Amino acid sequence: MIAGPIPPQRDELMTEPSLTSLYQQLILEHYRNPRNKSELEDHTVEAHVSNPVCGDEIRVQVRLQCDTIEDIRFDGQGCSISQASVSMMTAIVKGSNRDEAIQLAHRFTEMMRGSEEAAGDRSLGDLRALQGVSKFPVRIKCALLGFDALREALGEDSEAGPSGSRSTAGGRTLHERKAAH
Ligand code: ZN
Repeated sequence: MIAGPIPPQRDELMTEPSLTSLYQQLILEHYRNPRNKSELEDHTVEAHVSNPVCGDEIRVQVRLQCDTIEDIRFDGQGCSISQASVSMMTAIVKGSNRDEAIQLAHRFTEMMRGSEEAAGDRSLGDLRALQGVSKFPVRIKCALLGFDALREALGEDSEAGPSGSRSTAGGRTLHERKAAH
């Protein structure tokens, strides 16, 4: 008499060790072999952001041509999450236009806040490997740092004060203005 297949334990179904380690490998791969990590001498905008909690620092330089991100490079140091995230970000947004890049930043932020729907969005590409980081609140800032730099470089930063060099028509101003006239 042949025994039927043993039903898998519930715990085994709920965890996906192979997927998780694949994602970890992808994160480490970007960390060890970062994309677009160099100086961009003919950049048109740039931003520098840091995360004191973790010691992460990222500088992003972008060459915008008619709202197209013709080229993007970064330099930085810090934890594997922050450095892998910015590497993945530069690889994806290069060649896209400003609005697409901002939209991607929104989607990624949604995913990091736990949205399953955003996590299923294929436009996020390799960045989906960082979904697991959303379970570790202190590391979310690390994962978002690269996009923070991109937003600031594109004049989309809604939290910091006036970022100076570039104001773009159509940019939304979300922050409250103090006695502005
Ligand atoms: Zn970090």
